[in-house]
Amino acid sequence: MKVVEIFSSIEGEGAFMGLSALFIRFFGCNLRCAWCDTKESYDDRTACEELEVADIVRRASERPSSLITITGGEPFMQRDLLPLCEALLPLKRRIKVETNGTIFADLPREIFFAVSPKPPNFRIDRRFSGRIGELKFVVDAPLESKHILAYRDEIKRGAKVVLQIESSKKESLKKALLIQRELLSARLEAAVLPQLHKIFALP
Ligand code: SF4
Repeated sequence: MKVVEIFSSIEGEGAFMGLSALFIRFFGCNLRCAWCDTKESYDDRTACEELEVADIVRRASERPSSLITITGGEPFMQRDLLPLCEALLPLKRRIKVETNGTIFADLPREIFFAVSPKPPNFRIDRRFSGRIGELKFVVDAPLESKHILAYRDEIKRGAKVVLQIESSKKESLKKALLIQRELLSARLEAAVLPQLHKIFALP
């Protein structure tokens, strides 16, 4: 598997914010979001390691954490994502896979999917339906309440909505608070959250 980095920190985003986390960042992404803060995850100049599933599991087992966050880039581009998740489960930690939702593989039910849709141009794969733990929307200029309301059924099924402030920008916060109010009037709850690791200047 093509790995950009494996490192320990705290989870800076979403439902598990603040927990100790081991991050496994894979190379490659099928999208090119303007505000992407991990461009190195698909830059051909990035030095990556080719690791077997067993190598990754061994490294994870050597570094205690509450959470294992599998991220990218887009982790679903990795052919061995399923065997990796299966091999990590015996470590008995929460496992979160962060994805843009455009590629699906039937991972074990124990895996927490943090899906970050990229409206208006991309919809998530229908097979995520009923499996989403968290829907994270980066509050950028094009985001509107209607893009989130399009996922009403998933939210009713239990997906938590996160409105993530883009790069700690004031205008993004202002817009997030407005969208939060709009969702509330549609009886939907959303959490407005920063990226904690950026505030604390952690990796
Ligand atoms: S999907 Fe994620 S990793 Fe890929 S370009 Fe967008 S923000 Fe970056």
